[in-house]
Amino acid sequence: MLDGERKPDDFDASIRPDRLADFTGQEQARANLAVFIEAAKQRGEALDHVLFVGPPGLGKTTLAQIMAKELGVNFRSTSGPVIAKAGDLAALLTNLEDRDVLFIDEIHRLNPAVEEILYPAMEDYQLDLIIGEGPAARSVKIDLAKFTLVAATTRLGLLTTPLRDRFGIPIRLQFYTVPELELIVKRGARIFGIGMDDEGALEVARRARGTPRIAGRLLRRVRDFAIVDGSEKVTRAIADKALNQLGVDPIGLDELDRRYLTVIGENFGGGPVGIETIAASLSEPRDAIEDIIEPYLIQQGFIQRTPRGRVLMPRAFDHMGMATPETLVT
Ligand code: ADP
Repeated sequence: MLDGERKPDDFDASIRPDRLADFTGQEQARANLAVFIEAAKQRGEALDHVLFVGPPGLGKTTLAQIMAKELGVNFRSTSGPVIAKAGDLAALLTNLEDRDVLFIDEIHRLNPAVEEILYPAMEDYQLDLIIGEGPAARSVKIDLAKFTLVAATTRLGLLTTPLRDRFGIPIRLQFYTVPELELIVKRGARIFGIGMDDEGALEVARRARGTPRIAGRLLRRVRDFAIVDGSEKVTRAIADKALNQLGVDPIGLDELDRRYLTVIGENFGGGPVGIETIAASLSEPRDAIEDIIEPYLIQQGFIQRTPRGRVLMPRAFDHMGMATPETLVT
């Protein structure tokens, strides 16, 4: 089971910031959204459709909810794979009120027949439905409320071009810096009444893989260790012990990250090796590897994607304590 795939649970929900001002990091995205939200409010119009792109756990759902709150409108939420038929989407769309936010997670997994009816809905706020079959079939147009579609995807490349082109505001989310994660960890600790000193928070932040959802999960685990240790607060030593025991290494890589690096480094001499081969070696689905494992390893300079496959960088060999192949030594 991959962490990034975990569905938000109660803990996630309770540490979720509900105002833009409480949302840490993503400076540029936040500044832009603040302007667009304010302008839409002043004009009294629906905000243009927004597409959030980025790995799981970086705050796409959270930002969508914040947008609805800041706009003072209803928030409706669904996800691509859940909308099986055109009629399901039609039911959702016809229930929206003016300026409401409809959030569709994993929009790249929409069924193509459903996607077709989304185009006129996004562009002209109209539904084009075919009613009946054969010679009796006729097309009906239904006017929709002027809503805002906020969609999320892990990779832009998975979206069809016509769908992508219909979002006026595409926003790419970045991995968080350690100081940003430290603020998020401290805020979570405050909300849950978890005693924690600065160094404890920093240690969790460093090992959160640039991802607030992982920071939240690690925070819960280190709290458990502190309780069992009879300690009133999470110190650096407790955080370190807990995270080591959980298989999270000093820079935040987990067991699967390390297996991934080991497979390329040891079984394939550092690559290049194709993604399908890696997926087979790890017995993990290709999508999960591309969405969850690789983005962070690329951002950290551990691997590169090349046309011939994945290649391990010297930093990865160093970190894993593997001998760097001759060809990579510069
Ligand atoms: P995504 O939709 O991108 O997978 P979520 O919005 O569900 O991610 O966020 C995952 C968890 O991380 C939630 O508990 C959320 O509260 C927390 N979170 C995400 N971004 C932030 C942030 N900038 N500040 C504080 N908490 C955050």
